[in-house]
Order: sequence, then structure tokens, then C-alpha cells
Amino acid sequence: MPEHINDPSFYEKGWHKEELGDGFYWVTSPSGYEAAFMLTGNGAIVIDAPPPLGENIFAAIESVSDEPVTHLIYSHWHSDHIGAASMFGPKVKIIAHDITRDLLARFPDPYRPLPTETFATDATLEVNGTKLELSYKGADHCPGNIYVWAPTQKVLTKIDIVSPGSVAFMHADASENISGFYQAHDDILSYDFKALVGGHITRWGTREDVEAAREYWHDVRTFADEALKEMSTRDVLEGFHHGMGREHRLVGAENFINSMVNYIVDRTLSKVTSNGQTWPERLAGATPFTKYHAYTVMESSRTERTHHGYQRRGTGGPWYVV
Ligand SMILES: [Zn+2]
Repeated sequence: MPEHINDPSFYEKGWHKEELGDGFYWVTSPSGYEAAFMLTGNGAIVIDAPPPLGENIFAAIESVSDEPVTHLIYSHWHSDHIGAASMFGPKVKIIAHDITRDLLARFPDPYRPLPTETFATDATLEVNGTKLELSYKGADHCPGNIYVWAPTQKVLTKIDIVSPGSVAFMHADASENISGFYQAHDDILSYDFKALVGGHITRWGTREDVEAAREYWHDVRTFADEALKEMSTRDVLEGFHHGMGREHRLVGAENFINSMVNYIVDRTLSKVTSNGQTWPERLAGATPFTKYHAYTVMESSRTERTHHGYQRRGTGGPWYVV
């Protein structure tokens, strides 16, 4: 964790910024929400407007420039990252993915105005010779979650995948598409970045941070696969139901699922990882959050990945649960 988290002025002021590359600034708040802005010499481009940072983004910009905000980019449609967007007023151009616009049109929110410009796959935002390359590679944390690449500064903004220095928040940061969430780690690493703005938690990230996160998720999936292979069988499930009436079968199901979660958590947290440390020694949040990640990753195997079989006609088995 960085030094500013122990600086009382960070909490009094409500923001902290660092220049990650020529004119590209990362801004964080005490609650662990992050945004970014880039100066073009002819107006500032802001990426995201998290309510916990709110108007302090203006204070951060004014600390280095008197350029007005001319553009706002939405990383994704979630309120916790763009729910302060209305503070920029109607003159600011808002750029987002097509899906983000569709979601905001379907579920209107006065704090999240509709984008004024959208794109489907790739787009370049160029203001006064300063460039940002926007890219969409498919659903991950949520549909419409984009990559924002500053090629001159080699800074990548990709929100709610990697929280540098920690495991993600519970349930893979409440991600909707876990296969896409995994894929995003590789896609982030496909950029030649020197800094990652991840959206959380008061620290920007390095390549090593992303590699550590990818290794953590690889371990969770490996142990989830092991748990499913060994324990997701008719015999084990019936063992949990033993002595219960059919009306209580979901109690048995919960114990059955959580027994596998416990296995995944135990194996993940006790493993000695590639740098000789355990995950609780290496990443913040591993101890409290791995049980949520274990459930999410295991459950995604049942919904997003290949099944190991199906019921044959007229036989009672195999009775694969997964
Ligand atoms: Zn989100």
C-alpha cells in the first residue's frame, strides 16, 4: 500500500493525484475509488466520475491546470464509477461503448447522462494532438466495459478487473462474466503499459501487479476444478441430504456447495505461491474475500464452461451435478 494512505491530509482533502505520464493523471479517494484525467492543452479529458471522488476531481485538475473539462469517458455503466457524471454539465461530450448507452437508456439515471458519442469495437479520441485509444473486447466485469489506452504515456485504464496490491472485491468485484473477467487479465497484459488505472484501491498498478492477480485467479480456478472433480458427485450430494426430507433439500445443497468452497479456500490460502509467499502475505483481502471468489469461480464452471456429461435416456446415471 502506498504512503498517502497514512497521510491525514489525504482524508481531510478527499483526493490524491499522481502524474503517470505526460499530462496523464491518476486521482484516488480515501474510499478507494479512482478516476483519471488527461490534459490536452485545449481542455481536459476525464475518465470516470465516481461519486466517492465527486467534485474533488475538479480540485485535482485545478491543482495543475486551468483547462476546462471538455470530454468525459465512461469506462462502464456502473453507478459507483460514473454516478457523479451529471456534475460536468450538458456541454461536456460523453464517450462510451454502445452497450453502456443501451443500458443507461434502459435504466435511466439523472446522475448518469446518456453518452453523446458511442462506439462498437475501437475508437480514437484525439484532442489537440493528444490521443486516447478506446477498445472493447467483449463482456467481462460487465457488458460494455472498455479499455482506455494512452499510447504516448503508456498508461492503460481498465476498471474493475485488477485492484493493484489486493485481490478484487467480493465475487470477482461482482463481475457478470467470469470467463471474460479471466480473459481480461491476459488482454490487459497484451498492452505494453507502464501504469494501470484499475479503479481501486488507492494505488495504481504495474505489470507485476497484474501478473500476481492473474496467478491468484489461476489458483482459485485450479482448486475449484479439483473440488468439482472430487466432490461434485451423486454420492457426495446424497451424503449431504442424508436423513433430510426432500423439503429440506436446499439446506443440503448449500452445505454441499459450501464444502467445496471451503476446500478451494483452504487450498488457495495455504499454497506457497511463485514468489515464496502465501496469498494472504502477498495480496490484501485474500483472507476475507477468497471464499466469495471461490464460490463465484466454481459456480461459473457450472454456467460458462463445458459440462462433463449429461443424463442418458432411461438410466439413473451418471448423475453429474457439474
Ligand atoms: Zn463496476
